[in-house]
Amino acid sequence: MAEEYDLVVLGGGTGGYVAAIRASKLGLKVAIVEKQELGGTCLHRGCIPSKALLRSAEVFRQTKEAEDYGVTTNEPTLNFTKVQERKQSIVDTLHKGVQGLMKKGKIDVIEGFGRILGPSIFSPTAGTISVEMNNGEENEMIVPKNVLIATGSSPKSLPGLKVDGDLVMTSDEALNMKELPSSIIIVGGGVIGIEWASMLADFGIKVTVLEYLPHILPTEDQDISKEMLKQMKKKGVEIVTDAKVLSETLQKDNGVAIQAEVDGETVTYEAERMLVSVGRAANINNIGLENTDIEVENGFIQTNANYQTKESHIYAIGDVIGGMQLAHVASHEGIIAVEHMANNHPHPMNSDQVPTCIYSNPEVASVGLTEQQAKKQGYEVKVGKFPFQAIGKALVFGETDGFVKIIANKENDDLLGVHMIGPHVTDMISEAGLAKVLDATPWEIAESIHPHPTLSEAIGEAAMAVDGNQIHG
Ligand code: FAD
Repeated sequence: MAEEYDLVVLGGGTGGYVAAIRASKLGLKVAIVEKQELGGTCLHRGCIPSKALLRSAEVFRQTKEAEDYGVTTNEPTLNFTKVQERKQSIVDTLHKGVQGLMKKGKIDVIEGFGRILGPSIFSPTAGTISVEMNNGEENEMIVPKNVLIATGSSPKSLPGLKVDGDLVMTSDEALNMKELPSSIIIVGGGVIGIEWASMLADFGIKVTVLEYLPHILPTEDQDISKEMLKQMKKKGVEIVTDAKVLSETLQKDNGVAIQAEVDGETVTYEAERMLVSVGRAANINNIGLENTDIEVENGFIQTNANYQTKESHIYAIGDVIGGMQLAHVASHEGIIAVEHMANNHPHPMNSDQVPTCIYSNPEVASVGLTEQQAKKQGYEVKVGKFPFQAIGKALVFGETDGFVKIIANKENDDLLGVHMIGPHVTDMISEAGLAKVLDATPWEIAESIHPHPTLSEAIGEAAMAVDGNQIHG
């Protein structure tokens, strides 16, 4: 007899496990099917390990700069084995935490690969799930009332770029490098490519970024993308935009080579290793979509605002549905989906209120429309911009590059977007996120008192600068 559940979650990544916890708190009987490890990409191959490595790179760079702070040290040396061990111990700690949360929520974790078989006599709507068990035992059959597909995504490559996991890597392999190369080519100047470029440059590696589009970080406000270009160049990163990668990777004695068309010329780039960061594809293969009426467009599962697919008892959330491929988006979507299953009436998510962060040095954080998007949508805008150069705490930190930029609707003072580049901005963006949710005006942001000396004063100043009322600039 197949096991019965109110909800079976396919995939125990950030989206899946958070949804499972909320569902269990709502009184649903829940199981998670996970083929690898609870925590998914974010915990094992994404957010957490990459930020742990970025932090080691930051400490290495800052130690080199210690003399500027009146601290004399010997020339620092890097023990990359220790760097990797530190990263792994953070991941392991959090992994144990997620496993503990599953126990606490009485959520059954079934270790194996889940597949939707189609309607069953018990649950014609959500259908039966067959799990190919990791331990080799006979397939387990589950009959849930609802299914949540949260199978995430995997790195993509370009046709000629054959990823071998060693000379040519994606972020999956790069995170587990045993030693650092002396040089690297990064194909793709988006969020992941720039985080890696920043980290590897801070570790002292020669980095070349090849970006197909005219700008790195193409989805950010253009002022942010220009400032990041400047900051990367300052670190010694070679950034080549409008670069169309032409060739297959060529193996060289000491690494790899690749050709790209730049300004009408064919240029050859060589390095010891290559990292391909050109986007991520949804994990939809073999999960049984062909046994359902679920729609897929451009490789991503299609849903409505409650994350229901065309099969109303099968929901899908997170990277597998595309859009903003971020951990906090996946988990928020998961919560909305299970609230809907439980017949509550969740607020739909508004992408204009979702903060996005880049953890490079300097950091980037944004919420809402860019200036270019706002103008394209027909808004007449007013813009307040304030540099960290004029903020006392930034001088104290020794990190004065960057700015806060606030975009408002000229007609009614509505806050349209907030964009920041500089020190610790990823920890400051939530104020702007809250302002967006509460529909605050820049004037109201400025009314909220920003303590002195803090980096957040830059937000208050930028809010005042929208009407030319900034104090320190
Ligand atoms: P995933 O986390 O990918 O989880 C999907 C899970 O499903 C996996 O565990 C997988 O094993 C499992 N699975 C797949 N198919 C099946 C199946 N058929 N049966 C059973 N299990 C299955 N986002 C941020 O917000 N902040 C960051 O700083 C950040 N940094 C990142 C850095 C890197 C290098 C990368 C690659 C990504 C980063 N992201 C970041 C993105 C973030 O990791 C993803 O958006 C997030 O993990 C998506 O969550 P998810 O639950 O949709 O999928």
